[in-house]
Amino acid sequence: MILAPSLLAADFGNLQQAVEMVNASNADWFHIDIMDGVFVPNISYGMPVLSVIHKHATKPLDVHLMIIDPNRYISTFAKLGSDILTVHYEACTHLHRTIQAIKAEGMKALNPHTPVALLEDVIQDIDVLLLMSVNPGFGGQSFIENTYKKVRQAKALIEQVGAHALIEIDGGVSLKNAKAL
Ligand code: ZN
Repeated sequence: MILAPSLLAADFGNLQQAVEMVNASNADWFHIDIMDGVFVPNISYGMPVLSVIHKHATKPLDVHLMIIDPNRYISTFAKLGSDILTVHYEACTHLHRTIQAIKAEGMKALNPHTPVALLEDVIQDIDVLLLMSVNPGFGGQSFIENTYKKVRQAKALIEQVGAHALIEIDGGVSLKNAKAL
């Protein structure tokens, strides 16, 4: 199991302190939600905040782009220190090209309504399959139960083709459902 706490839950007045708390914890990655107010209704934070996180973080940065046209920013986010970059299926007109472009980092994301089967043709190329377990856009939402079914489908798809992608569950993960997940 890999644990990646979302920095959305940080106190932004004490960001360095929040980053150091995760550094000192058993968590594995930092999960960083970038929202543009267009692809999702909310605006979170952008490049200057990410560079502050990168400056203090001693663990990999798992950057989740909830933005339209993420292709425009792939190299920017690589330069800012992202180790894993996930994008939304719905935000990419040419998903395969986008995946190739971020191949050095990680991969992709799915909205709760997006069927896992849509990834059939790219599953071999991705490193991380991010399943949204809440509607993207806000922290602190409750877990969508249908996610269990999607995890099973994702696992089956990965095994069926002998792919190596990790499955990442994003949103509403707690001590109550972590074990089942
Ligand atoms: Zn996320």
